[in-house]
Amino acid sequence: MAKKSDGADLRMVRNIGIAAHIDAGKTTLTERILYYTGASHKIGEVHDGEAHMDTMAEEQAHGITIMAAVTQCPWRNHLIQIVDTPGHVDFTIEVERSMRVLDGAVIVLDAVRGVEPQTETVWRQANQFDLPRMIFINKMDRPGADFERAMETVKNRLGGNPIPVGVPTEDGRLLNLITKEVSRFSGILGSEVTVAPVDEALWSEWSHLQEAMLMGLADHDDEIAMLVLEDELPSEDMIWDSLKALTLSGAIQPCFGGSALKNHGVQPLLDAVLRILPCPLDSPPSTAETPNGSTEEIEMVDSGHLAALAFKVQLWDGRRHVFARIYRGTLSPGDTIAIPGSDRKNERVARIFDVDANKKKRIEKAHAGQIVLLAGLRYVTTGDTICAPEHPVLLERIQLRDPVLGLAIEAQSAKDEEKLLEALNKFQEEDPTLKLEEDPDTGERILRGMGELHLQIAFERLKREFKLDVRAGKPSVVTKETISGTGKGRSEFHRVIDTADETLEMKAFCRATVTPRERGTGNSFSLEPKVLPVGTFLTEGQTEAVINGAKDAAYAGPIQGAELQDVAVAIVEVETFGSSSSPQAVRVAVAEAVRNALTDAGGALLQPIMDTEVVVPEEYMGGVLGDLQSRKAMIQETTTAFGLSTIRCDAPLLGLLGYTTTLRSMTKGRGQFTMSFDRFDSTL
Ligand code: GDP
Ligand code: MG
Repeated sequence: MAKKSDGADLRMVRNIGIAAHIDAGKTTLTERILYYTGASHKIGEVHDGEAHMDTMAEEQAHGITIMAAVTQCPWRNHLIQIVDTPGHVDFTIEVERSMRVLDGAVIVLDAVRGVEPQTETVWRQANQFDLPRMIFINKMDRPGADFERAMETVKNRLGGNPIPVGVPTEDGRLLNLITKEVSRFSGILGSEVTVAPVDEALWSEWSHLQEAMLMGLADHDDEIAMLVLEDELPSEDMIWDSLKALTLSGAIQPCFGGSALKNHGVQPLLDAVLRILPCPLDSPPSTAETPNGSTEEIEMVDSGHLAALAFKVQLWDGRRHVFARIYRGTLSPGDTIAIPGSDRKNERVARIFDVDANKKKRIEKAHAGQIVLLAGLRYVTTGDTICAPEHPVLLERIQLRDPVLGLAIEAQSAKDEEKLLEALNKFQEEDPTLKLEEDPDTGERILRGMGELHLQIAFERLKREFKLDVRAGKPSVVTKETISGTGKGRSEFHRVIDTADETLEMKAFCRATVTPRERGTGNSFSLEPKVLPVGTFLTEGQTEAVINGAKDAAYAGPIQGAELQDVAVAIVEVETFGSSSSPQAVRVAVAEAVRNALTDAGGALLQPIMDTEVVVPEEYMGGVLGDLQSRKAMIQETTTAFGLSTIRCDAPLLGLLGYTTTLRSMTKGRGQFTMSFDRFDSTL
């Protein structure tokens, strides 16, 4: 049995995530791991809706994994902590949050389909955090499964460098290319592993992969390169060490294969996780910002001031809990913590728990490297750094995305209004990609999120967890605006205000231009007026007024006042008139000039455009293509293999609302599609 992950034996801990495209088998693999490590005594199959990790009722109903829970698996005197990451694209934010606190990841692929769109997304995210990763090529039992071809897709579609290590055989064994041993899985759910030396026939079939492995290592490892050149075999330890070093540096990704469902190849994968993926101490120190703008290296040690990162807020038994990873120092119940970079108050941690899926165990001290659950915090939210009040540092903030879809929502009866608001506030705290807004025109309450499923699940939770009877409108996409050409505007602002005892004059002149910028680059401002009357200059207050006036106007587009993007605003001329040109007068003149320039340029509406992939049996390809085009999709690529056609396209989200149902009925339930937000753009 592994000891707990206290500071003393962090070398025996692996914090890993398992990430995959939906349906690649992440949940099934996790269930097998829990079973073999004794963390779970019975295997909950996904299709029975009772998998151990998918604890929320909604997850079970939808057969997908949403919440990132932490589960501990003792394995060969080590502790593997799995941070479960969700597979659906609407929840990628959860994947990102959890990736930030992982030390390594196992990427699961479907052996028939290889790399899929969500694999690309998680790969990019893993790159962002320099996350060392291994690959498990799952579903080797399926007809058409091909270990080597799946590895090729890692190279071609992800630009990865897959190195074969554990090769699955057709009859459900696993060949280790380092030890030249073959594992056979038998007994209940494959829990008994017997190992034997490889036989001649099998070796002649696969020895070329051992060569590929050694060549792959030799590309980056001089010592191995020397031996390979001299036709000598490096020792087993040398190969393992090289695999680990190169995986940590991101140069390679060791590959294993098998079938989680058929209990094939999972234990050797776990052994390799211990050999290859880093312990918390192997990862390079994190960098943090200090209040004076300098950076500080955070070493993962118990001594020193506390630095921790909150990566998830979750309601647990109706109470607010914060998942956090400690990066430096220790934390005990009763400690006061600060939230740097925010104006939120310092607060006290009431209780600390060790987490394991849906069980929690109180602990008296959390150590550097540990992932723990904190209770009693009211202000800390996802992405916050938690630190010692006397030594504030800011670990990198997690990047958040803007929601793209909205749903009007109201309580069936007016008396539930308050309860609804309260519940929605709690949701927003848990999930920063959910946003509640009020439509300024209709006064409707709109819940915005990342996709239909995302909103639907929030909606179902209102009913189930909060017993609220809610009515929802049709989903509507978030629109933005930009300009369709260049524009010029001017304002001669002049107003005389007569009050009882004085006459107040406000006067200022401004000229502005607006120019379109490349899509997705945001707005830019050039606010230093090029023309000022000779002998005049702007006071500090007036300069600030120019900035504020320009930003006031550039907030909303000229068509329907939606958020404006990709516009370059330039203030060309400002003329002031003595004391009449108060900062207020300048601000109004500048705002008016910019607004006039925007109107002159003319607006264009922008919609969320989704990177979309549709996979259907070949015979439905024609019909599905035509239908996609009628939804204004721009087809990028179509390919067909093994009777399945894949269509990749850019499509406006608006055209894809309800598409799941349509696709199902067009393909007798056999079509699948995935989409991820790409950009705001005009429709094609
Ligand atoms: P996730 O979406 O990545 O979590 O995938 P799941 O674990 O939920 O699996 C999706 C489907 O694939 C389920 O019906 C599983 O039973 C099935 N599945 C998972 N692993 C395997 C495997 O190794 N072989 C086969 N044939 N099916 C599998
Ligand atoms: Mg799953």
